[in-house]
Amino acid sequence: MTTGAELPAPVPEVQPETAAFWEATSRGVLLVQRCTACGTSVWYPRFLCSNCHSSELKQVEASGRATVYSFTLTTRGILEYKDCGPYVLALVELEEGPKMLTNIVECDPETLSIGQSVQVVFHDTGAGSALPRFRPAA
Ligand SMILES: [Zn+2]
Repeated sequence: MTTGAELPAPVPEVQPETAAFWEATSRGVLLVQRCTACGTSVWYPRFLCSNCHSSELKQVEASGRATVYSFTLTTRGILEYKDCGPYVLALVELEEGPKMLTNIVECDPETLSIGQSVQVVFHDTGAGSALPRFRPAA
């Protein structure tokens, strides 16, 4: 069973602190923030560092590589996902450090494992943004 190829891509609600992130996704670029005061990489986009509360955050391009931290096979979605078949909801740990809630697509959930290498893919929302999801790395 391969899942996730036909997941919906709902349009995100863009906030001032997330605008640069969503704009970058439309170009196939995954951004994280890096605190210039303490060096922590931060995701999701925000105004203050999650470690030291500095406002000195700069946008940096992430590698797009991550590992599966945890996952579940969702068999019954809600809202935009209510008509989807089974799909994988996962927490991945980006190479830069932060963890991201996402979907694993183009995969057989039976072969997916914690610690597995995954790579970002972008699913266009059709509204100037794209949802970062991950697939098993080649
Ligand atoms: Zn910091």
